Amino acid sequence: MPIRILDKKVVAQIAAGEVVERPASVVKELMENALDAGSTQIAVEVRGGGISLIRVTDNGDGIASTEVELAFERYATSKISHIDDLQSLRSLGFRGEALPSIAAVAEVEMVTCAAGSTEGTYVSLEGGVVTNKKAHARPPGTTITVRNLFRKIPARLKFLKSTATENSHIANVVSQYALAYPEVAFRLDIDGREALSTAGKGSLMDSVVAVYGLEVARNMVEIKDAADWSPVRVTGMVGAPAISRAGRDGISFFINRRWVNSRLLVWAVEEAYHGLLMTGKHPVDIINIDVPAGEVDVNIHPAKSEVKFQNEPRVFVAVQKAVRQALVAQMPVPAIAEVATAYRPPSTGHPPSLWKAMPPLANTPTHPAPTLAATLPALRVIGQAMASYIVAEGPDGLYLIDQHAAHERILFDQVRAQRGQRAIEVQGLLEPATFEVNPREEEVLKSHLAELVDLGFALEPFGNRTYLVRAMPVVLGKGDWSGVLREVLDGAEARTDWSERVAISLACHGAVRAGQSLSDDEMRELVLQLEKTSSPHTCPHGRPTLIHLSAGQLSKEFGR
Ligand code: ADP
Ligand code: MG
Repeated sequence: MPIRILDKKVVAQIAAGEVVERPASVVKELMENALDAGSTQIAVEVRGGGISLIRVTDNGDGIASTEVELAFERYATSKISHIDDLQSLRSLGFRGEALPSIAAVAEVEMVTCAAGSTEGTYVSLEGGVVTNKKAHARPPGTTITVRNLFRKIPARLKFLKSTATENSHIANVVSQYALAYPEVAFRLDIDGREALSTAGKGSLMDSVVAVYGLEVARNMVEIKDAADWSPVRVTGMVGAPAISRAGRDGISFFINRRWVNSRLLVWAVEEAYHGLLMTGKHPVDIINIDVPAGEVDVNIHPAKSEVKFQNEPRVFVAVQKAVRQALVAQMPVPAIAEVATAYRPPSTGHPPSLWKAMPPLANTPTHPAPTLAATLPALRVIGQAMASYIVAEGPDGLYLIDQHAAHERILFDQVRAQRGQRAIEVQGLLEPATFEVNPREEEVLKSHLAELVDLGFALEPFGNRTYLVRAMPVVLGKGDWSGVLREVLDGAEARTDWSERVAISLACHGAVRAGQSLSDDEMRELVLQLEKTSSPHTCPHGRPTLIHLSAGQLSKEFGR
């Protein structure tokens, strides 16, 4: 065949293939347009799996009569005018491709009325060409009706799945946006039956109830935005392990309120659940990530469903940390019997009943963990055991506190707070000391010097891969500063938040050791300070700081 330029219609259909893969893609694009138009109510109606009919009605800004045809031209958009606008993009759309693509593969009708205008417009298109346009009354907003999708493209039709499957894709798209925009009232009707409806009052919990039901909603906890130093903000809700599912479709990500898929972020979330879910189980999570628009590239996918981050490790860590913290905060203090299974002694004959094999936390998904507040009850110190554990009494039984882990938590929180307020307390060395690094360490050190300085290390290059150390953070106390530096330079793998790593290492080296005897006052002070930390139940590595033997358990063990 000789080479020739394809005719316009064929080009449009080929291009449309990228944007409109299936009926749910049409629903997604139309909803995104409605959201971009500032709508507070969006109704979606579909018939025949979205093949016969898709209708999206919104109460947004509408389109001026003079611009209606333009909206259906390829690359026509009101959302950006310059490539740099992508750096500060606030809208979901920007490619100007959705309406022409949809019109290329279906029959389209639109009734729209721009806010402030007295009269609306009706327009119909076939094969991407306007067939009728006239004045039409309606309140401000837009209704787009799409009929007979892919009728002229049998190849596409052939690839569609059953009506039920296409409906489930559509329901998923609407659900995702309902979760992302709790302040918008969504309604989805499938073949005349209401499939979803949200109140649009701005509560994420309401959306979760509408989408997933009460049982799941009861098992969700809010992610508390960790007001730390990262420009990546993570909010949303995480599901308790008890409501895990077989697939990953319960994990939703919204980057700057755009619904996206991301293997990287799924991985971050699943890492956060490490040890809490059985293999093959996946959590339910709603993760909203806010990043400066300039740090995320939204223009890497025709359907805009994937994005690329400038700083992947930073986002990875922020998500993993936020999810983990939310999970840890809602987990109960492990009861002695549960912890004991983790360190079960070699089984010689009958284990004492206290050590009886209880199923570990992760294997009891049907038994939802009681959601305890992240705070500790007031504890009265009784004494120290094995120079490592503080024995304390609380309102409900005995507590054993790991003095090192507890102190680590306290110091870690201190570093974080001081760093947040840019008020790291430093201690000077009487004599500056030298610190020598190998070439690899030097590269790492150079690229992270600013963070170390920010965290209170006064380090200066002294030539020959040697650095002069003049001061270090107070939290380190008499701890081994060179140990901290070695440790953070060593494990410099990409996916970690550097400042946090340093903080963890500082806390670890600064904390009292196991085997160190403490005075009553010291123990009381430690417990008091632990009570004030952000998550008193775990050390920064995620290990427990304390275990609990309840009054009930005690009386049971003693047969009372
Ligand atoms: P994009 O969303 O990338 O700009 P579209 O093809 O989806 O491209 O839409 C083209 C233009 O039509 C939009 O930029 C917007 O100005 C207008 N438009 C589309 N849908 C709506 C709507 N529901 N309400 C108001 N304006 C709309
Ligand atoms: Mg659009």
